[in-house]
Amino acid sequence: MTGIKIRKLVFTYPDSKYPVLNNINLDFEPFSWTAIIGHNGSGKSTLARLIDGLLSPTAGSIEVDGIQVNESSLGQIHQQIGFVFQNPENQFVGATVADDVAFGLENRQVAQNEMGEKIDKALKMVGMSDYKNTAPINLSGGQKQRVALAGILALMPKIIILDEATSMLDPLARQEILSLLQRLKNEYNLSIISITHDLKEIELADKIIVLNDSQVVKQGTPSEILKDKELLLEIGVGVPASQQLQKLLVERGINIPNRYLNLEELK
Ligand code: ADP
Repeated sequence: MTGIKIRKLVFTYPDSKYPVLNNINLDFEPFSWTAIIGHNGSGKSTLARLIDGLLSPTAGSIEVDGIQVNESSLGQIHQQIGFVFQNPENQFVGATVADDVAFGLENRQVAQNEMGEKIDKALKMVGMSDYKNTAPINLSGGQKQRVALAGILALMPKIIILDEATSMLDPLARQEILSLLQRLKNEYNLSIISITHDLKEIELADKIIVLNDSQVVKQGTPSEILKDKELLLEIGVGVPASQQLQKLLVERGINIPNRYLNLEELK
């Protein structure tokens, strides 16, 4: 059972006057998919880095599976959490797909004779067994994210954090990786935390957390959050660009009749 408990969390970057996160209280249930949404700069990635112990709270506490996240527990925390980032290009270190998956295992000092089996299993989990000897550079964006995921799955984490992991993929590859994640979550009892702007990804979650102005402003199921159109407009999620543009113009005191905000007409 790996849940996350966050209490009275405050985080301020050393060179900043204001907290990015201010008095955050959150619970992430084990085996659940939680999406974190909010406009750019609202502190989503910072929160993920705090959970993984890559940053230390200015105040307050974070527990992962009952273990307080701090410098002395980092090894234990990193065993439980795997990160997939936005740009797969930045995640590759190996000359071949197999080398790449091996990298994390080598870091964990997994015995050489267990390595091959673990690599094969992880590549099978993401449907990339046929690409074992391929150079990552020759893979599509979706395939690269599958390999990045295999590198993480090989280490058997309990929680996977996706930091805009599907945002650079085309709609088909995005759908494929989301379906894969959903299947893996159920088969291996994983918890998923996804930072996203993508409506499809939001709909897959059991729970949505909305960050705005350094606070959690709302939590709920996808249907509860997605019906709050005003909130979605505020954070720029799932709202047509024309409406977002209109909001921006109104905020700046520029009033333009709606009909001019049809993007087709603006072309
Ligand atoms: P999000 O993931 O929601 O886009 P981030 O967590 O990346 O937001 O950033 C939140 C705020 O913290 C932003 O204002 C950003 O400029 C600032 N920030 C992010 N990283 C750093 C850093 N290393 N040092 C100082 N400020 C940072």
